[in-house]
Amino acid sequence: MTRDENCIFCKIFSGEVKSDEVTRTDDALVFRDLNPQAPTHVLVIPKRHAANLGDFVASAEPHEVGDLFALASRTGRAASPDGYRIVVNEGHEAGQTVFHLHLHVLAGRRMHWPPG
Ligand code: AMP
Repeated sequence: MTRDENCIFCKIFSGEVKSDEVTRTDDALVFRDLNPQAPTHVLVIPKRHAANLGDFVASAEPHEVGDLFALASRTGRAASPDGYRIVVNEGHEAGQTVFHLHLHVLAGRRMHWPPG
């Protein structure tokens, strides 16, 4: 499936729902999280709808997963060359609340480990 009509992140990608955009390519979008957990907290989403990372990987062209992580990495480095964190929650147990794959990129503060 390329697009899910009921998906908020598909609507954000298409512009139907407004977001605070940071970067856009033909296949991906970076926008600011509504509820930031760090000075920089953005979400990197693919255009192609997949509910989570596992579904995306299962149906991806070879370059798609790498392209998405490369965009997240460039975004994190640009925000904080000294360090940043990429988080992908998959499933309820991990705290996933929006079921369109998204990579959280968090930067601008010291991160802690283990994560909550
Ligand atoms: P997750 O819990 O990993 O599924 O993360 C979903 C993230 O999406 C949360 O950090 C929310 O704050 C964020 N979020 C939900 N709706 C929007 C929206 N319309 N614009 C920006 N961020 C959103």
